[in-house]
Amino acid sequence: MTEQASGKVDMEKIVSLCRRRGFIFPSSEIYGGLSSCWDYGPLGVELKQNIKQAWWRAVVQERDDMVGLDASILMHPETWRASGHLQGFADPLVECKNCHLRWRSDDLTGNNCPSCGGELTEPRLFNLMFKTFMGPVEEMANVVYLRPETAQGIFVNFQNVVNTTRKRLPFGIAQIGKAFRNEITTGKFIFRSREFEQMEIEFFIKPGTDEEWFNYWLEERVNWYVKLGIKKESLQLRQHSKEELAHYARVCYDIDYLFPMGWAELEGIANRGDFDLVQHASFSGKSLDYFDEETKEHIIPHIIEPSAGVDRTFLALLCDAYDEELAEGEIRVILHLHPTLAPIKVAVLPLSRREKLVALAKQVYVDLRPCWMANYDDAQSIGRRYRRQDEIGTPFCVTVDFQSLEDEQVTIRERDTLNQIRVPIAELKKTLQAKLEGEDLFVLPPGGSIWKEGESS
Ligand code: ATP
Repeated sequence: MTEQASGKVDMEKIVSLCRRRGFIFPSSEIYGGLSSCWDYGPLGVELKQNIKQAWWRAVVQERDDMVGLDASILMHPETWRASGHLQGFADPLVECKNCHLRWRSDDLTGNNCPSCGGELTEPRLFNLMFKTFMGPVEEMANVVYLRPETAQGIFVNFQNVVNTTRKRLPFGIAQIGKAFRNEITTGKFIFRSREFEQMEIEFFIKPGTDEEWFNYWLEERVNWYVKLGIKKESLQLRQHSKEELAHYARVCYDIDYLFPMGWAELEGIANRGDFDLVQHASFSGKSLDYFDEETKEHIIPHIIEPSAGVDRTFLALLCDAYDEELAEGEIRVILHLHPTLAPIKVAVLPLSRREKLVALAKQVYVDLRPCWMANYDDAQSIGRRYRRQDEIGTPFCVTVDFQSLEDEQVTIRERDTLNQIRVPIAELKKTLQAKLEGEDLFVLPPGGSIWKEGESS
């Protein structure tokens, strides 16, 4: 039974797995929780870290035309005037309970959603930005905002980056960081939370090359998800209509994922034109133009922005990887996570708790630990221990048995095929490294042998 293949893995199962195995807990749970805030547990923090690392590797480390940045969450309040957030979000807002489009209530003529006719929430003066105070005096002059997106930190540093890195167009600046939005509609687990993380690229280009770079990033970003194992059929591109376009965008596409509640945005890709650099230059009074060596002209670069959410990627990966099998009357949950993303790469399991076996297994575990996140587990039957690892997506289990004491060999079991090979302990690290990088399990190291093809329990 592959639930997600039919798009039917339900959110309750994902929430329950996250809770049960320590991926995600409600925030401040002992106090009854805090609405739409979540804490990532021991496995969640590993998966999240691996997602961010995979993104950083693909967009920064492996490219010549991208550099990273880590701007502060609190920014000069003028930033938000220039970006349009202060004015844009300080209106009386209503939201359609059906299609979730938000409207300024003073712009509406009727009582229903102009898009789908759905029922609207009560209007309230609403700014999506969280406010706080800088310094000891809580007065309006000291108000600062928790950033609602990481992008602005990139725009205001554009000139700093050009001057210090000597990057020439086209080039990008990438950033991963927390963003905060006092969202009106919540309640879809980590899909929409009030504190979340973004992975944003601002790619600066010569005006006139917009279409070419927009299409390039659309393809790159879809491929990134596919390379990490998300099924192509669970992804779709959706172009924003004119009415839907944000004030700064000329063109925008969403990469949607088929979440349990239906298609919804995973990442947005926008052509922001010269809006941001023009605005910040005008509000700060500082020049943010760029000298084009070829044409000897000062130009304002255009910007293509692929903006992804860490938490939504996390949720999409879990939904996509979730699988259930009926094995001997019991439901076996398997997370088919890509090895790069799996929180634990390898688990070391002694067949029994006999002293000599435990000693050898612990030695193997201690030896692997510096290389990868590893688990050691000797509680309950070997079958149960395999299940526990399958459920958290561990791609490989290493079993130490009585024969290991004699022949100094161990068994590697693969999560997805249940196939097993027997390898000398001396070859274990190298073998696991190759398998984690995608080598077939049955490519054997010196002295290795095929142990078992599939297993029934
Ligand atoms: P939505 O329409 O779902 O509210 P958005 O269009 O406002 O999203 P963007 O401003 O384009 O979102 O932000 C870029 C990315 O940041 C989104 O694609 C999403 O992955 C992530 N994101 C935005 N808001 C949230 C949130 N409240 N919780 C979790 N992730 C979010």
